[in-house]
Amino acid sequence: MKSLVLKPQRTHRIRSGHPWVFAGEVQKISGQEQPGEVVQVKDAKGKFVGLGTVNPNSNILVRLLTRQEETIDDAFWRKRLEEAVAIRQEYVTGTDSYRLVHSEADGLPGLVVDRYGDYLSVQILSMGIEVRKDLILETLVDLLKPKGVFERSDVSVRRLEGLEERKGVLWGAAPPENLIIHEGSYKLHVDIPNGQKTGFFLDQRPNRLRVGELAKGRRVLNTFSYNGGFTMAAALGGASEVVSVDISAEAIAQGEANAKLNGVAEHCRWVTANAFDFLREQEKAKEVYDLIILDPPAFTKSKESIPGAIRGYKEINLRAIRMLRPGGMLVSASCSHHMDAETFVSVIQDAANDSGRRLRQVDLRGAGMDHPVLPAAPETNYLKCFYGVVT
Ligand code: SAH
Repeated sequence: MKSLVLKPQRTHRIRSGHPWVFAGEVQKISGQEQPGEVVQVKDAKGKFVGLGTVNPNSNILVRLLTRQEETIDDAFWRKRLEEAVAIRQEYVTGTDSYRLVHSEADGLPGLVVDRYGDYLSVQILSMGIEVRKDLILETLVDLLKPKGVFERSDVSVRRLEGLEERKGVLWGAAPPENLIIHEGSYKLHVDIPNGQKTGFFLDQRPNRLRVGELAKGRRVLNTFSYNGGFTMAAALGGASEVVSVDISAEAIAQGEANAKLNGVAEHCRWVTANAFDFLREQEKAKEVYDLIILDPPAFTKSKESIPGAIRGYKEINLRAIRMLRPGGMLVSASCSHHMDAETFVSVIQDAANDSGRRLRQVDLRGAGMDHPVLPAAPETNYLKCFYGVVT
């Protein structure tokens, strides 16, 4: 097996559990490494660090799989998949749709597998998984017996690994157009081939369920609603009215269909608009809400754009705070890993200060247990959902 040697002083992050070895952290590479092959990583003194898959064409040169000297064969990959599936089967309840494999955090770097009812939606983001696609697929089918597996590798980050974007049926039946999933007490149409991400935002499930518990008798505003997951949770939780806004007309059309599916259409109003404009107009019109959800897309995908993102988060949080009745609840999320929880909460506090209102944090949550976090890799801890009462 080929070995790569780390530069001196470059081992702390990696030793503490982070699974990536960057190209600049390695002394030299032979150039003979095959994309995706398993290599051994050693520190500058020659001591074993771990085994991982190499991609000479990526800045993330090695994605570590293990810190043990073990054999990386078909049985290894199968065991990793079994372990990922097992923790979902043990800990994820109340839904037929959840993330089965969460990439680095499940020891399967670059592999995302989401289950939507009887169908799987797969995303491959690393060369190490790409070259083992057939084995992974075969194993998933064997373990989970889905009706079909669809690939949603139509994401630009694949280019960083030297991979083309790709999407289509990988195995079995194509997901039906009217695929319906069940989460808590509500149902949702999910469009695996054309929806955002792998079809839906599974990571917000615990927050949707929580909002369902908080919504009874409340007038709710759900911004960045996508196909209305939070809306369904709130409406079935007994909200008097839910106003949902998203910039995507398709998302809003799906939301309306979901409201009909759940028999809550008369409590829902749908608006296709830029949420920034809509919040401004609503505030000007002196609208008042009991509960406001802010769940924007990542405003920052790099460190450089953090200041702009802070302005964006501050603006929407400020407008939402101003529209809440005294005692109303702000549910404010950020899914950008560049925005750490502490900074995010301080931005919300800033917005409260500007509004002259008093803000009490009552909860701060992340994604569900199907989206585990590797404590040593902050990138895997991307979702923050802040709950605050405004008086
Ligand atoms: N809350 C959703 C997920 C939201 S994802 C859920 O629980 O499933 C972010 C959403 O914001 C996407 O649906 C996207 O279409 C929408 N979006 C992006 N920019 C927007 C903008 N400026 N105004 C309104 N919606 C926007």
